[in-house]
Amino acid sequence: MSTYQAPLADMRFALYDVLGAEALFQRLGFAEASRDVVDAILSEAARFTETVLAPLNRIGDEIGCSYDKATGDVTTPPGFKQAYAHYVDGGWAGLVAPTEFGGQGLPHAAGIPLKEMIDAANLAWGNFPLLSHGATEALLHHGEAWQQEAFLKPIVEGRWTGTMCLTEPHCGTDLGLLKTRAVPNAADGSHSISGTKIFITAGEHDFTENIVHLVLARLPDAPAGSKGISLFIVPKMRVDRDGVMGERNAVRCGALEHKMGIHGSATCVINFDDAQGWLIGGPNKGLMAMFTMMNTARLAVGLQGLGLSDRAWQNALRYARDRLQMRSLTGPKYPDKSADPIIVHPDVRRMLLTCKALVEGGRLMGYHAASLVDIVGHATDDAERAQADALLGFVTPIVKACLTEWGVECTYHALQCYGGHGYIAEHGMEQLARDARITTLYEGTTGIQALDLMGRKIVQQQAAGLRVFLGMIEQFCTEHAEEAAVAEFIAPLRELAASWQQLTLQAGKNAMANADEIGAAAYDYLFYSGYTALAYWWARSVAVAERSSQSEAFKAAKRETARFYFARILPRTLTHAAAIASGAGTLMALDADRFDA
Ligand SMILES: Cc1cc2nc3c(=O)[nH]c(=O)nc-3n(C[C@H](O)[C@H](O)[C@H](O)COP(=O)(O)OP(=O)(O)OC[C@H]3O[C@@H](n4cnc5c(N)ncnc54)[C@H](O)[C@@H]3O)c2cc1C
Repeated sequence: MSTYQAPLADMRFALYDVLGAEALFQRLGFAEASRDVVDAILSEAARFTETVLAPLNRIGDEIGCSYDKATGDVTTPPGFKQAYAHYVDGGWAGLVAPTEFGGQGLPHAAGIPLKEMIDAANLAWGNFPLLSHGATEALLHHGEAWQQEAFLKPIVEGRWTGTMCLTEPHCGTDLGLLKTRAVPNAADGSHSISGTKIFITAGEHDFTENIVHLVLARLPDAPAGSKGISLFIVPKMRVDRDGVMGERNAVRCGALEHKMGIHGSATCVINFDDAQGWLIGGPNKGLMAMFTMMNTARLAVGLQGLGLSDRAWQNALRYARDRLQMRSLTGPKYPDKSADPIIVHPDVRRMLLTCKALVEGGRLMGYHAASLVDIVGHATDDAERAQADALLGFVTPIVKACLTEWGVECTYHALQCYGGHGYIAEHGMEQLARDARITTLYEGTTGIQALDLMGRKIVQQQAAGLRVFLGMIEQFCTEHAEEAAVAEFIAPLRELAASWQQLTLQAGKNAMANADEIGAAAYDYLFYSGYTALAYWWARSVAVAERSSQSEAFKAAKRETARFYFARILPRTLTHAAAIASGAGTLMALDADRFDA
């Protein structure tokens, strides 16, 4: 069975040594978030996720959620409900939520390691509280005072959970097609919501007495397409303006989806049949309000990819040290044993080091994005906030797409390290690979993240966020140019940054001439950006580790992994650059009806 141990040392290195979180939190006014407090939270989070959530991971996969057709009720796998009660009792639900609504008011970046640990320990379970955070954000930014009063507190306290109801049978990516209707009720200002949503995560469950659905729907006079979408709060149990919970609303789970992975996560068809709903964020402003949820959720899903990668590679590493097969090509390394452990073989090392490079570098990408959320929300300087906002918008699709695609890659490599045993359920590696697959699909597929990056963040916003990132690289290269420990990374980093800029200019120019060029370049541009960003984080890790009080072994591990990354993974950028340079021509030339000619 696969096990999980929270990588506290590397989490602390990322947070404190590289990102300077201790000083950052104090500067942003989080007086409570001292290093001692955050350290204690990390240790306790590790204990909770390792001992409560991780042991339920396999049960969740094997037993899954069950659905009662007669009542529409959903029962979660054994132990899941108790683990949720434990989570709520421990105060985890409101860790980063504002204190005025019952939260603990800690910075987002201090809560992000907990998120990684939950996902690594039990991704399916983690999906139940996941969208409560998105609902909290939407209510905080767009809710009226009474809505915040009525709905936020119970969500922050974990007594209720949230959902995000966008998808309908005929519309996923293209929300402009959605049909769910909202008819105003003059008597009390509520709306009657009718329609069917599919694939709704945590849409029904047995954890809490109420579930707050945030539902996209159309008002009667709404313009067609995405400009005519509004957002509604539709609780499972009715809640009036006085905040009192009443009788059952006309919301019912119609079925549970049968899925490839995350069996313990309830993925529901939810039917609304003249259900009582409350408009949030203004008429026809639903997409904007929903984006508040989606941005947080996209970073959170990126963290899911990271958590799974980390768990997979931890197990693969342990297995590679134990499993004895064949001798090293350069002669026996453990002559006293019947064979050498497979970690001596270059190909096994290729897989393990790829995982280590993507996991530890990816952790910095994810945690850095979380720290930008804090700067955007709490910095007092307008210019600093605006810069962080541009950078956050730019890195969000990169974090979501790269960490999840790397999650698929790392769980694949880790399974491969086990040989045939990886394919056997008992070891838990095939579950991780199956579970990882969803992360590249929900909250916007990888293709849609790439379009967001290329179309919105580069073309529409004129690469404002990229310019901030290029500035970070230049500053790093200038500051460390003379440092022996990182000298080898400086020239390649500078070259990469120059090509990144050049590729962006070229792609922008091509897009002016032919809009298909945006879509044709998007995927490769996103990964070019992801690998370049990772090169920066690896070079910076080496520089920071060298100057830190970390052990010699830790420093050497960072240095050698960075070298491996620059030599063996970073060249993937060459393929992506070539694909971008080739333009849309070869993609668009073949007529759709000739694909199978
Ligand atoms: C387990 C699970 C849980 C989910 N949870 C939720 C939830 O809680 N709430 C919710 O509302 N939804 C949820 N979803 C839905 C999920 O967000 C959608 O499945 C996803 O956004 C993709 O939509 P789709 O499946 O309709 O695919 P489509 O939109 O039909 O896309 C199909 C393919 O076409 C590509 N494509 C589409 N348009 C473009 C374009 N313009 N350019 C390039 N490529 C394009 C896509 O990338 C994809 O590869 C969940 C789905 C699953 C499977």
